[in-house]
Amino acid sequence: MRDTFSVIFVVLILALGSCSVIAYRSRKSNSNSVALLVGSLIPPVIGNLIIVRSGAKELSLVGDYIYFIGMDLVIFALLRFTFEYCEIKWKNGAIKALVYLLLGADIVQYLLNPVFGQAFDNEAVTVDGFPYYRLVPYFGQTLHRVLDYSILAVVIIIFLVKSAKTSRFYSERYYVIMITMIALAFWQGFYIFSRTPIDRSMVGFGGIGLLVFYFSLYYRPLKLLDRMLANIASEMTEALFFFEASGRCIWANSTGTELAGIKEGEFETVPDNLFERFGDKYQSQDEFISRYIIGAGDDIKYYVLEKHSLLDEKKRLAGSFVSIRDYTEEQQKLKRKMFNATHDSLTGLYTREYLYERIHEVIMARQDTEYYIVYIDVRNFKIVNDIFSSEFGDSALQCIADWIKSWMSDECVYGRLVGASFGVCIPVEAFEPEIIEEKLSHFLVDNGSVGYHILIHLGVYKLVEREIEISLMFDRANLALSTIKDEYQTHIAYYNDEIRRKVLWDQHISTQLTDAISKRQVLPYLQPIVDKEGAVIGAEALARWIHPSDGFLAPGSFIPVFEKNGMIVEVDKYMWRCACEILSEWGKKNERLFISVNISPKDFYFIDVVEEIRRLTEEYSIEPARLRIEITETVMMTEAELRMKTLNKFREEGYAVEMDDFGSGYSSLNMLKDMPVDVLKIDMKFLSKSRDDEKARTILQNIINLSEDLGIASLTEGVETEDQYRMLREMGCEMFQGYYFAKPMPLEEFEEKYLD
Ligand code: C2E
Ligand code: CA
Ligand code: CA
Repeated sequence: MRDTFSVIFVVLILALGSCSVIAYRSRKSNSNSVALLVGSLIPPVIGNLIIVRSGAKELSLVGDYIYFIGMDLVIFALLRFTFEYCEIKWKNGAIKALVYLLLGADIVQYLLNPVFGQAFDNEAVTVDGFPYYRLVPYFGQTLHRVLDYSILAVVIIIFLVKSAKTSRFYSERYYVIMITMIALAFWQGFYIFSRTPIDRSMVGFGGIGLLVFYFSLYYRPLKLLDRMLANIASEMTEALFFFEASGRCIWANSTGTELAGIKEGEFETVPDNLFERFGDKYQSQDEFISRYIIGAGDDIKYYVLEKHSLLDEKKRLAGSFVSIRDYTEEQQKLKRKMFNATHDSLTGLYTREYLYERIHEVIMARQDTEYYIVYIDVRNFKIVNDIFSSEFGDSALQCIADWIKSWMSDECVYGRLVGASFGVCIPVEAFEPEIIEEKLSHFLVDNGSVGYHILIHLGVYKLVEREIEISLMFDRANLALSTIKDEYQTHIAYYNDEIRRKVLWDQHISTQLTDAISKRQVLPYLQPIVDKEGAVIGAEALARWIHPSDGFLAPGSFIPVFEKNGMIVEVDKYMWRCACEILSEWGKKNERLFISVNISPKDFYFIDVVEEIRRLTEEYSIEPARLRIEITETVMMTEAELRMKTLNKFREEGYAVEMDDFGSGYSSLNMLKDMPVDVLKIDMKFLSKSRDDEKARTILQNIINLSEDLGIASLTEGVETEDQYRMLREMGCEMFQGYYFAKPMPLEEFEEKYLD
């Protein structure tokens, strides 16, 4: 019997030791307290091993000490473990200290036993034929037992409360340990009272150690897991069907029963039902994922069907499950989203981006078909919106969209480009210009109460290069619009070589301007301005471009291009600088002539003109009166107040302001009195336009008289004959400019002719 228990104890020591080491090394949260508890169970077992093996009283006593002091350690470790395992915080430090104190006192008491003999002694009995030293407890041992059992009782109560409070999925991790502890307590109790030799309850220590080790570190609530998985499966929005290896359906979740149209428990009919709908592919052994589109029109349904097989350990088919997801709603949402992203919300036509995409696809796919790219533009749309309302504007756009749809065939692609412009890609033979012209000659938008004629123009570009950007094709179609002269008679214009050349020309000179200025290929030509006596009093600086490959360029071929794209600022700033340079040179020679420079309306948008001119005249030390500023009436068309201020600033600083091309535009004689100008430049060209010479003369006379009354000097330009010169002088005009005196000429020539 001694040998049997020796072996058992050694095995226990080894098992507990290994578990303790494993627990200590594990990274789990409570692994340290587990390691301590499991490890602390070893000394009592060692103590008992010594007692069992020993035949001598002294050695048995050593075993006793190890056993009892070890028990105090066990109790300490158990307490620590319990608090962690049951997630209880040591709230009261005093209680903790008291427990430590009591356990410490107990150990001290044992250590004093050899001296006072108050705790225990042992007596020999015979086991297996030789002496076994059995414990004889005294007062101290009783105290020890009371302490240990009390603490054990507290621990058991904690476990009891915890297992009662915890969900039943987890409670087994508490009550299993608790019941084992109770059993162990009784077992030990039995040993204490029966006083049988050999403490067999040590086996229970091993058991407790292993249980703690397992529950703390490896236990997973499988019941919970099962339950969770079952819940997930039944709550899933996907339909699930579980099949045996034979193909018999054994379970379906509620979505599944609904999809299969069966009642709970009628799983047998599922295979037929699925077969009917999804074909028999799902019955094959293979795993797969397939998409199904079932039905059509409004009843269309989208499904994705997945089949998975379950294999046993020997890789034999144990069963399978099929999941079916209805993604009709997602699909519809996606379609709606796609539609919204690709269609204009007002007209329902394609958006510009999508139109470009579609056109690209179509023209690439049908290389043999000839296409027109048509830019449809509503000319007076802003007026429609302003005069009526934006609702009327909206219905006008819808009306136009409907009209576009009406002449579109299947091969056409069309959409709304931006605002009131639409784009169409149409095969050449499907385009019927006569019918369109006819319709557009009286396009009426009528919303029931108001009817309004809408002016629509079509710019047409015939596709020759398919590789270029679609936006560029529409740009070309749009460019054709600019060639429409009589906008009420003609509604369709075609992009042609002339437009192409013009665009190329514009690009050509625009890219070269900066370089040309820096190389002084752009030059000021001077045209003299004379007084009544015919004496030259000044000159107008007019730009010329001596182009290295295109030759001599008059401003008509480049100024309008730069006015359109804003580069005119660059030309003008350069021309002003040139004028200042010339004036500065003349100043040194004591020349009193002035130079007039042109200021484009665009300059006012982009720069502070006054500031720029002031800077230049300061840099070249020029008297402001030497530099005259020519502006046109169009300058006053936008932000009139602001422009007036600018002109006044010029005048205050001493520059003379000239109103160029007076009479060519919108100005009226009436306007003149509010204009802060010093000189009125009247162009003969505008007057000679009128066939009636007499009438022209009257107008001219009136302008001159009026300007005289207002204290504004008059200058007539475009004077080509002596008769004109004489007549103007008689009318009271003060200054003259024109081919009759001289054409604009290079600086050197001007200086040679007119400077002393
Ligand atoms: P503009 O300012 O009205 O200049 C007068 C134009 O009339 C000049 O044309 C001049 O050569 C021309 N001209 C002068 N006398 C006669 C005449 O007796 N008969 C006829 N038929 N024409 C005459 P040019 O130099 O071709 O300039 C055309 C326009 O270009 C100018 O009209 C001006 O608006 C613009 N321009 C020229 N240089 C510049 C410049 O540096 N900056 C700006 N912004 N515009 C300029
Ligand atoms: Ca001018
Ligand atoms: Ca002029």
